Amino acid sequence: MMELLSARIVWGEDDVARNNSFDESDDEQLPNFPTEIVISSEDLECNVCFLPYSDRRVPLVLTKCGHSLCKKCCKASQQQFLFSRFINCPFCRTRTPGSFEMLPKNYTVMRIVQKIGEVE
Ligand SMILES: [Zn+2]
Ligand SMILES: [Zn+2]
Repeated sequence: MMELLSARIVWGEDDVARNNSFDESDDEQLPNFPTEIVISSEDLECNVCFLPYSDRRVPLVLTKCGHSLCKKCCKASQQQFLFSRFINCPFCRTRTPGSFEMLPKNYTVMRIVQKIGEVE
């Protein structure tokens, strides 16, 4: 499953205004932001079970290392060891203490997934 998605980044006027306020000289040009980036479906799926993130497959952040995986895989990782009090990161082996139910959602990934869903 290596589908490529093309995404156009629209910089909000706020970003431009904020940028300008840091500019001392008026004639200095704004940096050239990319207007198009390519996101592969790999970026928007759980890299453990290889299923796309969605409302039902929510990406969670392992707070100790910052890696994301879906809730189902977090649960499976936790239940690898009986009564374990940590989640073992499948990518870097860092242990995040606590229960998978306490992990924060990766809202950035969820927003991208929702926006792509709106277009399709
Ligand atoms: Zn998963
Ligand atoms: Zn990790």
